[in-house]
Amino acid sequence: MSESSYDFVVIGSGPGGYVCAIRAAQLGFKTACIEKSPTLGGTCLNVGCIPSKALLAASEKFEEAGHELGAFGVDVGSVTLNLAGMMGHKDKVVKANTDGVAYLFKKNKIDWIKGEAAFTGPNSLSVTGEGEAQTITAKHIVIATGSEVTPLPGITIDEKRIVSSTGALKLDSVPKSMVVIGGGYIGLEMGTVWQRLGADVTVVEFLDRILPGMDGEVSKQMQRILQKQGMKFSLSTKVGSAKATKKNVSLTLEPAAGGAAQTMEADIVLVAVGRRAFTGGLALDKAGVKLDDRGRIATDGHFATNVPGIYAIGDAIAGPLLAHKAEDEGSVLAEIIAGQTGHIDYNLVPGVVYTWPEAASVGQTEEQLKAAGVAYKAGKFPFSANGRARAINMTDGFVKILADAKTDKVLGAHIIGPEAGTLIAEIVLAMEFGASSEDIARTCHPHPTLEEAVKEAALGVAGRAIHI
Ligand code: FAD
Ligand code: NAD
Repeated sequence: MSESSYDFVVIGSGPGGYVCAIRAAQLGFKTACIEKSPTLGGTCLNVGCIPSKALLAASEKFEEAGHELGAFGVDVGSVTLNLAGMMGHKDKVVKANTDGVAYLFKKNKIDWIKGEAAFTGPNSLSVTGEGEAQTITAKHIVIATGSEVTPLPGITIDEKRIVSSTGALKLDSVPKSMVVIGGGYIGLEMGTVWQRLGADVTVVEFLDRILPGMDGEVSKQMQRILQKQGMKFSLSTKVGSAKATKKNVSLTLEPAAGGAAQTMEADIVLVAVGRRAFTGGLALDKAGVKLDDRGRIATDGHFATNVPGIYAIGDAIAGPLLAHKAEDEGSVLAEIIAGQTGHIDYNLVPGVVYTWPEAASVGQTEEQLKAAGVAYKAGKFPFSANGRARAINMTDGFVKILADAKTDKVLGAHIIGPEAGTLIAEIVLAMEFGASSEDIARTCHPHPTLEEAVKEAALGVAGRAIHI
C-alpha cells in the first residue's frame, strides 16, 4: 500500500472542495484533493448548477425563436427542436468546466487523488479506487463531500420514469406530461426547461406557496408568471405514492392537511423535495467526527469539527445548499488555517432561481422583518416602467428594496425579472458596505439599463422614484 503525506487534504472536489484546495495551495500548503467521481467539480459542475443552466439557456433560446422573435420583426419560420444537439451543448459546457478545474489543479500543483476516501484515524485516510489502496496522512483534513437527493419514502427513483435532477438533466425525449414534486429551486428550474420544450408540467407542492424561502410577493408573482407560461400548480398537496409502469407513472395526490386522494398519470415524475448532507463511506467513527441532529457534519461555526485538524464546508454542513456559499467557505477556511482572519456574513448570501424571469433575493424578507418587529420602508419598481426592459420585451416583475425605517440601512432586496441574478450583485455589494437605500439611489446608474430599476426602487424607499 502506497503512503503519502500532505499539509492539507480536501475530500471532495465540488465548488467547496476545489476552491478550498486552490486557496490552500496559494497560501503555500502542500495540498491534495481526493475525488471519487471520474471528473472534478462535484455536483455543481457535473449534475447541478452548470448543466442545468446550460439547458435553461438552450431551452430559453428555443422558446425565444419559436414564440418571441416575431414581436421584434424577426421571422424565423417554423422552429424545430434538436434535443440531442441541446444535450450536446450541455455536455460540452460541463466538460469545459470540469477540465478547467483539472487545469487549475495542475497550475496550483495540487495532487488529484482518484478514489473514495475513508478515515482510518484522526489524521489518516485510506483511498480506494482503481489500483491498490493508498494511505494518505495530513495535518489538516477538510470534508467537502457535499449532498445527495432527499428521497421521498415509498417512491423509488429509477432515473428513467421517476427521476431526480440528475435524470431530469438527460431525458432522451420530451415527455408529454411531467409531474414535479416540490416547488423549490430544482422543481421550477427543471420544470421550466421541459415545459419550454413541450411538456405539460404540473408542480405539486406540500406548502401553500412555491419558493418557500423567498419573499412572499416574489413567490406569488413567480407563480402567476409561470402559470401564464402554462405551468400548473397543485399547492398544499402531497404525493401519497408514485409507481412506475412500463408506459408511465401512476400517482396518488392528497391534500396536505388530509382528505380524499385522487389519482393522476404522468410520463415522468421529478422528485425535487430537497437535498441532504452526504457523508456515506467516510467512516467518520474511525476519526470520531460528530454529526448534528440533521445528519450534517457538526462544526463550531468556523468550520472546525469536534476533532482537532478536521474541518468541514459546503453542503455537508449547516447553511444554504448553494455553490457560492460552499466556495466562500472553502476560501475562508484555508485562510483561517493559514492564520488569517476569515468571515462570512450568511445574511448576505444571495439566492437566485434561474427560471425566466429569474428571482433573486438577499438579506431579510418582508415576512422576516415583520416577524422580528423591525420597522422598515419598502421601495418597489416594476420592470414595466423601465425603458430597457420594454426594449427587450421583458417587462414582467419588479425590484423591491427594504430599508430600516430609522437608519435607512438596506436590510433586504428581492427581485423578480430579467437578469435578476445579475442585478442582485450590486445590492449584495452595497449591503456588504452597510449602504443605505440613499447610497444606492445617489449612485449614477448607466442608461438605459435594467440596473436603473434598482436605482428607482432605492429612490422609492424615500417615496421619490422618478419614473413611476
Ligand atoms: P458537491 O458539489 O456535492 O461535491 C462533493 C464532491 O465530493 C462530489 O464530487 C463527490 O463525488 C465527492 N465525494 C463525496 N464523498 C467522497 C469520498 N468519500 N471520497 C472522495 N470524494 C467524495 N447552487 C448554486 O449556487 N447555483 C445553482 O444554480 C445551483 N444549481 C443546482 C442545480 C442542481 C440540479 C443541483 C442538484 C444543485 C444545484 N446547486 C446550485 C447546488 C450546488 O450544486 C451545491 O450547493 C454545491 O455543489 C455544493 O458544493 P460542495 O462542494 O459542498 O459539494
Ligand atoms: P428546495 O428546498 O429548493 O425545494 C424543495 C421544495 O419541496 C420545497 O418547496 C418544499 O416545501 C417541497 N417539499 C418538501 N417535501 C415535499 C413533499 N413531500 N411533497 C411536495 N413538496 C415537498 O430543494 P430542491 O429544489 O430539491 O433543491 C435542493 C437544493 O439545491 C436547494 O436547497 C438549493 O439550495 C439547491 N439548488 C440551488 C439552485 C440555484 O441556486 N439556482 C438550483 C437548484 C438547486
